[in-house]
Amino acid sequence: MFGERPLSIAPLPALWFGLGQSERLAEAVRLVGASRAFLVTDAALRHTGIPDALAKGLRATGIDVEIFDRVVANPTTDTLNAAAEVLRAFGRAAVVAVGGGSSMDVAKGVAIAGVNEGSGRDFDYRNEQPVPALAIIAVPTTSGTGSETNAFGVIDDLETHEKFYVGHESVLPRVAIIDPALTVGLPARATASTGLDALAHAIESLAAKNPNPFATAVALEAASTIATWLPIAVEDGTNLEARSQLALAAHLAGVAFASGTGLGLGHGIAHAVSAATGAVHGEVLAAVLPHLMRSNLDLRDGAYARLGTALGVGDPSRSTRENARAAIDAVATLASRVGAPATLAEQGLVAHQLDLVAVAALRDEVTLNAPAFPTVAEVRAVLDAAF
Ligand SMILES: [Zn+2]
Repeated sequence: MFGERPLSIAPLPALWFGLGQSERLAEAVRLVGASRAFLVTDAALRHTGIPDALAKGLRATGIDVEIFDRVVANPTTDTLNAAAEVLRAFGRAAVVAVGGGSSMDVAKGVAIAGVNEGSGRDFDYRNEQPVPALAIIAVPTTSGTGSETNAFGVIDDLETHEKFYVGHESVLPRVAIIDPALTVGLPARATASTGLDALAHAIESLAAKNPNPFATAVALEAASTIATWLPIAVEDGTNLEARSQLALAAHLAGVAFASGTGLGLGHGIAHAVSAATGAVHGEVLAAVLPHLMRSNLDLRDGAYARLGTALGVGDPSRSTRENARAAIDAVATLASRVGAPATLAEQGLVAHQLDLVAVAALRDEVTLNAPAFPTVAEVRAVLDAAF
């Protein structure tokens, strides 16, 4: 019975959305009770001038700033340890994540590591941390991860070559400042891959083992917005309307899966493929998603049919199954229209890695949220189809 499945929506970060909202960063730092800020970012973004402009704004109000700009894509235990060393030397501060998913991942790890003893895997979320994390303020510069809505970050363990989760309820960002102006310089390929990641968040949340109406409503709205505006933003990165729509939609897709649905096998596979090859998260998801949706069709055709309506390909005169198939085709078409590679082989995966990837995907806890827990053979079938 519906009422027998409890639903509780945990507090979300405060959302400050809109063009120019990043100028309120100092206000956010004071709001979390800090007078110093530790900015976590990557070198490429630093090159655009965004982190330094934010730092300048903070310093103008008397806030002491340190910038750590050595975040890499698919950050590792080495990245986390390096950031922790700089933060420990700087001292207690608000941690400000400026960038995409990788900067958020490192910010969450360092917010704990900076005030606790240990290194690398010690900060696995399953380990107790005596001291709660430093307050985090998230300033995303991509429209994809939705990472500002949850309390987990993903780090590559260089010893085991597997990803693990850093996290603690205290690393949930306190404020998410979503300023679409910061996403204008994102190149077309990164715009496409991060947008497809957000779409995957919406779809996996919608089709998860324990869906809920809150997540469904938010995910359908996010998917609809992404389908409409992603091709426009990829075509013309300076289109502020498209950038604004995508920025909020990516956040909403994060809100959907942070409401308790989690994600699913698509993310289990994406983490495993990226750990094995360094492939781009959203591109792996785009190659896998249509095949994964086909494998879930018997369990989730109703959800996919509603997705079809949200994506503008639903037809009430056709069956649920037909509308679900139309949704799957629409996802594949959107990915190809924005230039995502169609196969995993094109992204550097080689045949002998498929078994390893299947096993790692099953071990990834995100996979527990799949509509039914898959067998190795089922994961292999999805991988083979996407290969
Ligand atoms: Zn993702």
